[in-house]
Amino acid sequence: MFKGILIEKDDSGYRAGLRELDEINLSAGNVLVRVHYSTLNYKDALAITGKGAVVRHFPMVPGIDLVGAVEESSHAEYRIGDVVVLNGWGVGETHWGGLAEMARLNGDWLVPLAATITAFQAMAIGTAGFTAMLCVLALERNGVTPDRGEVLVTGANGGVGGVAIALLSKLGYRVVAVTGRPAESDYLKYLGAAEVLDRGSFSSPGKPLGKERWAGAVDVVGSHVLANVCAATKYGGTVAACGLAGGMEFPATVAPFILRGVTLAGIDSVRCPRDRRLEVWRRLGRDLDLDKLNTMTRKIDLAETLDYANRLLLGTLRGRTVVAVSR
Ligand code: NDP
Repeated sequence: MFKGILIEKDDSGYRAGLRELDEINLSAGNVLVRVHYSTLNYKDALAITGKGAVVRHFPMVPGIDLVGAVEESSHAEYRIGDVVVLNGWGVGETHWGGLAEMARLNGDWLVPLAATITAFQAMAIGTAGFTAMLCVLALERNGVTPDRGEVLVTGANGGVGGVAIALLSKLGYRVVAVTGRPAESDYLKYLGAAEVLDRGSFSSPGKPLGKERWAGAVDVVGSHVLANVCAATKYGGTVAACGLAGGMEFPATVAPFILRGVTLAGIDSVRCPRDRRLEVWRRLGRDLDLDKLNTMTRKIDLAETLDYANRLLLGTLRGRTVVAVSR
């Protein structure tokens, strides 16, 4: 038996709670992992609270990422004691996830913990930081170099936003942060933002094209914010779109794409191929300032996860939340 968060949905409703779970109920897989840390991402908060259709089978253990030690393996690449990292692949959505002391997983989904970071740091990064790096790679691939001009990061006080600011500033970009919490400007400037803008000026319907300002952008918000960011992106610029914290819709026109050659780069962390995953972790180990990561991270335990899921969706948490799963 082991402890974990379980989400159930039946005639008495949708509920999540800390439960004693039985190993025989774990999802199928060829590697059994003792989970050391998981994290609380936006998607986990939607799953735990039931405010988004994230969970596809019930009962479900949430937790879209984890780091832990292999306890059993019939996968050629993994031995007992290996420390492995997982994010995505439907874990926490269709396959029991990281917010429990044990997880049984497909070994093809795992990557070894990078030598340059600790298990705790891997989850301080987590899916959010992994996704931030995917966004940075998309900007780089599309030729958005620091000399091309300013880059914008929305949802700056969140997990993806904070890591994106830290990464881009270390790589030499002038980073402008957009936030609904301008009172956190000192924190955002510590992470590397050169300027902080109020989300209010981005969240209403805007013109199809605005003044060209951004060489590139990382957007976690979607909706009018994404439309306005695209409208103010410079000729040939790239906007990496990864999130929907402000809404799923995209109320834009094609003007930025057909008149300014702007690229809208879609970012998905869930089915990201293994080669790209290894590149992302290698780059995170090289390009992320670990002191800044530490400043943006808090640690909670499994029992606190439900309360923090609500706080995350209320927009009152800052940065990243690591869950200490097995002590
Ligand atoms: P967080 O909750 O940590 O951060 C989200 C931030 O967005 C908040 O801190 C807030 O920033 C801003 N925000 C929140 N609500 C609103 C709103 N109603 N309108 C505008 N801005 C808002 O989440 P994550 O950083 O973990 O994830 C951000 C987004 O990215 C989510 O939509 C998530 O689903 C998505 N995502 C997608 C992935 C992918 O593979 N494509 C992977 C990981 C995340 P502030 O207070 O500074 O304004």
